[in-house]
Amino acid sequence: GKGAAMVTAVAYRLAAQHQARQKILEPLKLSHEQLLEVKERMRIEMEKGLGKETHAEATVKMLPTYVCSTPDGTEKGDFLALDLGGTNFRVLLVRVRNGMRRGVEMHNKIYSIPVEIMQGTGEELFDHIVHCISDFLEYMGMKGVSLPLGFTFSFPCQQNNLDEGILLKWTKGFKATGCEGEDVVGLLKEAIHRREEFDLDVVAVVNDTVGTMMTCGYEDPYCEVGLIVGTGSNACYMEEMRNVELVEGDEGRMCVNMEWGAFGDSGCLDDIRTEFDVAVDELSLNPGKQRYEKMISGMYLGEIVRNILMDFTKKGLLFRGRISERLKTRGIFETKFLSQIESDCLALLQVRSILQHLGLESTCDDSIIVKEVCTVVARRAAQLCGAGMAAVSLSLSLPCSFSTVLQETVKELSPKCEVTFLQSEDGSGKGAALITAVACRILGEPAV
Ligand code: BGC
Ligand code: MG
Repeated sequence: GKGAAMVTAVAYRLAAQHQARQKILEPLKLSHEQLLEVKERMRIEMEKGLGKETHAEATVKMLPTYVCSTPDGTEKGDFLALDLGGTNFRVLLVRVRNGMRRGVEMHNKIYSIPVEIMQGTGEELFDHIVHCISDFLEYMGMKGVSLPLGFTFSFPCQQNNLDEGILLKWTKGFKATGCEGEDVVGLLKEAIHRREEFDLDVVAVVNDTVGTMMTCGYEDPYCEVGLIVGTGSNACYMEEMRNVELVEGDEGRMCVNMEWGAFGDSGCLDDIRTEFDVAVDELSLNPGKQRYEKMISGMYLGEIVRNILMDFTKKGLLFRGRISERLKTRGIFETKFLSQIESDCLALLQVRSILQHLGLESTCDDSIIVKEVCTVVARRAAQLCGAGMAAVSLSLSLPCSFSTVLQETVKELSPKCEVTFLQSEDGSGKGAALITAVACRILGEPAV
């Protein structure tokens, strides 16, 4: 009868909508072959970055870090560390002990960096940093003590020494003027002199990936890769010196800061980038740059999800076709919401309440769809990252966390390389102190 016909029509429409959504999501689901391609292309870009002749035009810069040895446990002393690059700025006091009491003890304070400062002038940014350091020294009752300092500065820097870092370009949320092309240690020192309050002895500039690797390296000497998937994404690893063509010498190894976030900036990932990736890139602070990072890291995943949800809604496939002002707002989907929604054990009711919290009224069906979108985007991120790690793993001479998908992908794409993932506890800041400690040990500087 008529009722049955209507039910059939509804069922048919729902099935058609489901198919339409699947079709849109299809390009975000990567096949084994595509992932292998990504790995191969990463290998090619890595080689370009390492090669003397090809480095200038390379997008994956493979920057020498001048970190050649990992901690051996004999380091000791008190160190200051700064950690700049994510959403917050941290100042740390790190006490490293050797012998029977071997271990690391830390005190730290977190400072926020207002957007106006991240995107203001370089002077304002470094004055703010020095202001925070001054506050920290006061708080610790340490004004007047001059400690060796490690500066974790999580942006691409050209280094000609351990204690110098020329900023090549800002990434993530930073855009302060007058810094690109400058040595950030110089900028820091100038700001310290402007304040005329204390002095600091900057021993090392360190990328967060390197700090993370060193922190795990303190516990496990086989640790030779550092991976960050945070606001941005990047990796470093210990490379044979003879392959590090930018630096004289063939003996031993040096940690290379890959700056893999820029992978794809040559156009080599265009076939797997979707319209959503393009949209997110175009409205970012650095269009055309850091394309791989924008498919992987926290600062961008929420935006990819939001763009997909907008597309669905415009096509009448979600939220009953009504685009709310909320949904049009950039940045509403913080990564923390994304990972909450995507979490396996989260009931749909909770997904709905998260959406509600974001001002998005959803039906039960809507929440299923949103959850699926989050899962697809997060899974692709982990797989792409895994493909990158699989490329790196081929460069490791010793058998050496993001999620199981990342590890599975590495296994699947480079089955012969045994890679073990360790979670670095509070890696980036502590690592800067450890690198400083190693440098002081090697240079024979007095420990405080
Ligand atoms: C930066 C890297 C950094 C990574 C993770 C990227 O945007 O270019 O230097 O390691 O973010 O913080
Ligand atoms: Mg060399």
